[in-house]
Formats: sequence, C-alpha cells, structure tokens
Amino acid sequence: MSLPEKGRGIEELLAEISRLRQDDLPVRGGKVTAYVYDTGRPEVHEAAARAYFEMLEVNTLDPTAFPSVVEMERQVVGAVAGLLGGGSGIFTSGGTESIMLAVKAARDSRPAGGPARMVVPVTAHPAFHKAAHYLGVAVDAVPVDPVTFRASVAAVEEAITSDTVLVVASAPSYPQGVVDPVAEIAAVAAARGVLCHVDACVGGWLLPWLREAGAQVPPFDLSVPGVTSISCDLHKFGYSPKGASVVLFADPALRRRAYFASAAWPGYTVINATVQSSKSAGPLGGAWATFQALGREGYLELGRATLAAARRLREGIAGIPGLRVLGDPESALVAFGSAEVDVFVLSDEARRRGWFLQPQLSYAGIPANIHVTVTGVTLHGVEAMLEVIAESVAAARERGPVTLPDGLVELVAGLDLDALDDAAFGELAASVGVDLGGSGQPEMAVVNAVLDALPADRREAVLVRFLSVIYT
Ligand SMILES: *Cc1c(COP(=O)(O)O)cnc(C)c1O
Repeated sequence: MSLPEKGRGIEELLAEISRLRQDDLPVRGGKVTAYVYDTGRPEVHEAAARAYFEMLEVNTLDPTAFPSVVEMERQVVGAVAGLLGGGSGIFTSGGTESIMLAVKAARDSRPAGGPARMVVPVTAHPAFHKAAHYLGVAVDAVPVDPVTFRASVAAVEEAITSDTVLVVASAPSYPQGVVDPVAEIAAVAAARGVLCHVDACVGGWLLPWLREAGAQVPPFDLSVPGVTSISCDLHKFGYSPKGASVVLFADPALRRRAYFASAAWPGYTVINATVQSSKSAGPLGGAWATFQALGREGYLELGRATLAAARRLREGIAGIPGLRVLGDPESALVAFGSAEVDVFVLSDEARRRGWFLQPQLSYAGIPANIHVTVTGVTLHGVEAMLEVIAESVAAARERGPVTLPDGLVELVAGLDLDALDDAAFGELAASVGVDLGGSGQPEMAVVNAVLDALPADRREAVLVRFLSVIYT
C-alpha cells in the first residue's frame, strides 16, 4: 500500500481489514490448536477488548504520569504471585520478554562481568537461545529422557560449571507438554549456588487450575526450594489479549537486576523494568479485565473443561491405529507421532478440513510429530477434532509420504545463501512448487519435509531468508 492522498473513513477501513483477514486462520472456535486461546465465552473477550481500548493511549513509560498503570500492574502481578508461590514481578509483553529479563537478571548477578553460561534442556523454548544471543550468554544444551521427554537431572548437574549463571526447567515444555523435574533441578542448581528459572510461560496459569480440577501436577513454582524466578504468560492460558506475561522473582534484589536505567543523556532519565520503553498500557488493561471478568470460578471452570478435553483427546488419539501420544503430559498440550503415516501430510489434510494442527520438526532424536494445545473451548469440539484426525490419517495413508524431487535437500543444504538475493531465492522456491508470493493457506508438507531433512542451522538460515522474501 502507499499512503493515501486524502484520509479515508473508518467504515471503509474496517471493510478493508476484513478483506485482508479473509485467508487468516480463525482466532475463535477451537479449530486452530496453536497460537490462539479461546475461552468460548465471547463476553470475556469483549471485556478485555474494551479495557484494552480504554488503556490504549496510556504510556507505561512514566508511572508517575499514569498511576493507573502502577495500580493495575500491582493487581495483575499480585494475582500471579498469589497463584505461583509469591515473589515480586514485572508485567511484560510476552514469554520471550519475561525470559529475556530473567536471563538478564541472572547474568547481571554474576561477579563483575565475568563469563556467563546457562544450562538449557533441548526441549526448552528458543526464547532462551534468543536471550542468550542478545545478552552474550553461552548456552549449554542438555538432553531430555527419550521416553518421558523430561529434562535429565543428571545431565543438568553435569553441565553446571563455575561460569553457569542460570539453570532452566520448563513447566511444561511446549513440544510434548511434560513438566521437567523442577524440584530436583532446582536442588542441584541451589547446591552449586546457581539461579534456577522455571519457564511456566504456557503452564503457569494452567497447571494450578488443572491440579485443582483433579490432575496430577508436581510442584513447579516459587514455593519449590531453589527456584529463583518463573515466567507465566497471560496471553496463553490467562486468555488475555496478546502482549501479556509476568516474570516473578523470589528475591526483590534479583528483580532489580532485570531493570535498566540510564541518565547518560540530556533528556528525560530512562528507568525501565522491561525491554520496551514507551509502550501502550492496552495489554495490561486487557489482562486486568480478563482476570476480573473470569475470576477464580471462571478459570477453574475452564481448567475442568480443558482437563476433560485433554483426557478425551489423548484417549481418542491412542484409539486411532497408527498414532501414538508422545510421553505422558500433565498439561493440556498433547503431541502425537506416527510410524505409519507422514505427519506433515496429515497436518495438510487437517488444514483442508478447516483445522490447524501444528507440525513439529524432528530434533535431538525426537521424531517429527503434531502438536495440539487444548484450550477451554476445545471440549465442545473434541469429538469433531478426533474425527478430523482420523480422516486425515486415512487420507495421509492413502496419499503416502511426501516425495521430494531428487537432490532437492542436498541442493538446499548446499546453497550459498549469501550469494543469493531475495528474488533469486523466491524463484528457486517457485521452481519446486512453493509460491512465496501467494495468498491463501499453503500446502506445507513439501516445505516441512525439506526443513525436516536439514540440520537446525540450515533450517534457521532458510527460514530467515523466507521471512525476508515474504516481507519484500
Ligand atoms: C510460548 C512460550 C514461550 C514464549 O512466549 P511468547 O509469548 O511467544 O514470547 C516460552 N516458553 C514456553 C514454554 C512457551 O510455550
């Protein structure tokens, strides 16, 4: 688009937005089992949207100018601390920012600028690699148990060195939805005088409600000895609009290490609790209103429905010949694989039937699989989802696995991407049937099969190029 010469009216703009969104996946209804979180209660999302809008133009940059921000943040962070074992926290824009701040706090706790490393299980979220990259911390990746997919305590212990500033456990890890042995990991970290962060981005506002609804959930929060910080996203199972997460620290002195201040210029003095400086209070208003609109009772009810749906889904998947659930997830995140059908074809088949089931590439010995995040609304549609999965399995069996053109993987693996401009990359993709300029929902099986055959660093390089091309 170019900037219009004359301003346009709101009705025309809204019509255009709805045209732009026509190929988007739906954000409500439960047929998209990743990215979006639907309570199934439109009035709750409406309350959040209106509160978001009320706070939209408030800038959280200066809490003395907008005291509403301080009061709302105290209430939201206080509610999270109340559920997750206390501590003092920061409201952030998402899991990545919460993790960034936890890693910064740990790095800045080390004695005067020495080297900093952190121990990260291979199933932990890439946000830790991103934080490490941005903050100059080295990552020591450690394996998980190949059957349970939980981090190996022995491997964590062995990886700790005198430069280790942080050890990570997930509750749960996203790929298979299983909770790492938090108490044991925190204990080995504490014994070596190392901080321990629990990534409860997806589980922090889910596991307590599942537990109350009857699920077996091991202790994972700040009440566990040795856990020094924890992240909890509200824009996932808090059901808040995007841009909402909390990071809690057991010790207020550690929280201050996450802050940043600069008086090194002649303008206003910057004191930030977060990575962003000027930012809208909209997400905070949205999170606050979602808490108020649902209340304890609302979240517990969602927890019950989510638990029932997750149990039914696991049982149903186990009953479909050719599929198997990976591990024994305590959460509402379910991954399933197949030794008989191509899961990437299965995912495309589900998409043709109006459902998005997220494909996960093979990594660290874990085979390619499909990830489903069960939310509050899923229970109403769980039988329909199982039918679609069964039909998609049958269709994928019929179609057989993706066959890649001879030499394609070797070609992509050997590409000198620096010598290829974006246009040439687009042409190369088109030559194997991938239209990067196309609209609509693409068939992804070929792309996934190629990526799956590449080592992680090549996947990264190819996808960076993909992103650059689609935004050109
Ligand atoms: C979603 C997620 C994150 C990252 O959160 P964003 O809000 O996408 O930045 C980190 N860890 C886990 C386990 C997650 O599920």
